[in-house]
Amino acid sequence: MTAKRLDGAELSKTIRAEIATGVQEWVASGNIAPGLAAVLVGNNPASEAYIRNKRKACESVGIQSWLHRLPADASQKDLLTVVQQLNQTPEVSGILVQLPLPKEIDEESVLRAVTPLKDVDAFHPENIGLLAVGHPRYLPCTPYGVQQMLVRSGIPTAGANIVILGRSNIVGKPLSLILMQKPSTGFPQAGDATVTVVHRGTKNLAEVCRSADILIAAIGVPKFVKPEMVKQGAVVIDVGINSVEGKIIGDVDPSVGEVAEWLSPVPGGVGPMTITMLLYNTFRAAQLLRSVTV
Ligand code: NAD
Repeated sequence: MTAKRLDGAELSKTIRAEIATGVQEWVASGNIAPGLAAVLVGNNPASEAYIRNKRKACESVGIQSWLHRLPADASQKDLLTVVQQLNQTPEVSGILVQLPLPKEIDEESVLRAVTPLKDVDAFHPENIGLLAVGHPRYLPCTPYGVQQMLVRSGIPTAGANIVILGRSNIVGKPLSLILMQKPSTGFPQAGDATVTVVHRGTKNLAEVCRSADILIAAIGVPKFVKPEMVKQGAVVIDVGINSVEGKIIGDVDPSVGEVAEWLSPVPGGVGPMTITMLLYNTFRAAQLLRSVTV
């Protein structure tokens, strides 16, 4: 079998066109354009590239963006001051603090300082909590990108056995919350699947992975998922982004394409979907902020 491609770059074009139309109508109705403020501490080249891509994507759909740079030796207090100012700035609908932060800074405190309404990454405990109880305000961008990839490719999740490799706060854990819950008016994107999350401590990991109708890898280990870990005809989504000798490699070995029915490529899979859902959340934040100020 040669797997069909879950093309995140192509799907992103469609979703971004929908967002651009929505933003255009929003502005034409007299509202100010949504705006994303990015905060970057230091000059990590990967972080610089991520921010550049996110800002370019904002521009392509009519979302304003600003970059607030702090030196690598900025203190936690300096960073918190910037975040507090952005919390108070009406033009800013979304705030993005680019991770990772220098190790001297307590990441948790900084993420908690972003006002939950402008938390377009959905990392704040209030937003994670709302997701956990089935009334999400925002869905975290990478898990949301995976969910949209499935839905828009016509891959049903209801009743499916889904195995997620990795339990991080930004990917595995929130993705499991999205995919396992029951859809409702407040949470139509919920997956209604039977979800298993596996990690470093899991026994018989390969066997569990082989039971999956949909296998999602988010561990950060290049080519970890091999064909013998995948059920014939399964859907495999590769969230991994690993830089190996200057090349971007996923967590799934490309030979899995011989067993799977669907496979998302790296690059060009979940990566562009993540940025697209950040744009979606920023537009949604502008709408929510407007509704609390009128
Ligand atoms: P993380 O390091 O925070 O978490 C990794 C998880 O994988 C942990 O739960 C750990 O227990 C598990 N794990 C690690 N090695 C394992 C092993 N050998 N066997 C079983 N489980 C193992 O990582 P993260 O932030 O969730 O990111 C995971 C990957 O996804 C990375 O490659 C990262 O670059 C990528 N990522 C991509 C996007 C995107 O937009 N495509 C966004 C976020 C993260």
